[in-house]
Amino acid sequence: MPTVAIIGAGPSGTSAAYQLAQASLEVLLIDTKTFPRNKACAGVLPPRVLLDLEVEGLPLPKDLVQRELEGYALVAPSGRMALSDFACPGAVVKRSELDNWLLQRAGVGLVQDTIDGILEDEDGVTLTGRKDQYFADMVIIATGAASRLGRHIHQERPLMALTHQFELKMDTSEIKKRVGNRFWAFYIVNGGHAWISPLRDSLKVGIGSVAPGFDARKELMHLIKSGPIADLLNPELDPELDLEHDLEHDLIQEEAGLIPMSGPPQKLSTSRCLLAGDAGGFVFPGTGEGLFYALRSGKVAAQCIKDHGTQAHLQYQSMLTSAGLLSLRDVDHLKRTMATPEASERYVSSLAGIK
Ligand SMILES: Cc1cc2nc3c(=O)[nH]c(=O)nc-3n(C[C@H](O)[C@H](O)[C@H](O)COP(=O)(O)OP(=O)(O)OC[C@H]3O[C@@H](n4cnc5c(N)ncnc54)[C@H](O)[C@@H]3O)c2cc1C
Repeated sequence: MPTVAIIGAGPSGTSAAYQLAQASLEVLLIDTKTFPRNKACAGVLPPRVLLDLEVEGLPLPKDLVQRELEGYALVAPSGRMALSDFACPGAVVKRSELDNWLLQRAGVGLVQDTIDGILEDEDGVTLTGRKDQYFADMVIIATGAASRLGRHIHQERPLMALTHQFELKMDTSEIKKRVGNRFWAFYIVNGGHAWISPLRDSLKVGIGSVAPGFDARKELMHLIKSGPIADLLNPELDPELDLEHDLEHDLIQEEAGLIPMSGPPQKLSTSRCLLAGDAGGFVFPGTGEGLFYALRSGKVAAQCIKDHGTQAHLQYQSMLTSAGLLSLRDVDHLKRTMATPEASERYVSSLAGIK
């Protein structure tokens, strides 16, 4: 049985670790950070993530659910709104809590180190960390959107959305009144969108775009002051007030991050390394949804190694295709949905239940 090193203990890495440990393979899980750690995220888990976790044997613990989600509200540039309801509830979670639980679920000890180098030869793979060197037969690279380790496999430059997000305090009763149990996506930004995600007693309000020179924080401040987001957050808000000052009072935390928007690259493996999660571009560009794809691609990478050992690279693309993960390579999706206000208007209007 091959020994497997997994670089990155986010959802894709720990999903792979869980599957491999269940099959009694020797797993080395390495992350730069000690856990629990935060990751910029709106924390939205659609029902299919919850169903997958249940099918895999351990449902998401109830106390991790900040809020049950009943669906999405999509807002077009004109203000028209499309509601889409889930068949069963989704959830909003805090990433520090979700990722720590996924790590516990994997049941694999975490080695805290930053991997800077990967060297492959016929005997295996040597990973050079800042603290130590590691050797494995196979490696899963699950280092997220900001990592450069993917360059070990391909030289494509993925299109990235720059994002910024505020977590703002709000009473549960006010959240119920203004936002409800929905994730709101506002298609009012060229090359991206803005969003509101309701937690137990706070909101994540964020924005992201691939537009060149996009100043995510500045655009977010602007949207919080006027327009449909401002109307939801605080209908009585005076547009003249000093928002920086006012925000300080309600601000719990500020986060920034990258979202891969161009889908998986053509090359996703070398003879001994497989890419998974954000590092492999497994994100749906229409919503920036990545958690489902991170968990799934980590699972497929693990399954591929379980089934094919050191020959896994020969089967990885076809197993990803069977799992539906390579359809994320729809490069025109962004153009059709977010490149211009007209495209966004058409996109939201095309969805069922326009209100
Ligand atoms: C603002 C924002 C909001 C989002 N909201 C949502 C949402 O609501 N729902 C959703 O489904 N998706 C959302 N996403 C996307 C989602 O966060 C990602 O798709 C998901 O985190 C990908 O998981 P991952 O395991 O691939 O990577 P990550 O979660 O990024 O984990 C990668 C891990 O690798 C480690 N690492 C990196 N480099 C090294 C190295 N050299 N050596 C060792 N360790 C390393 C990191 O420390 C990290 O722990 C959002 C993204 C952003 C930026």
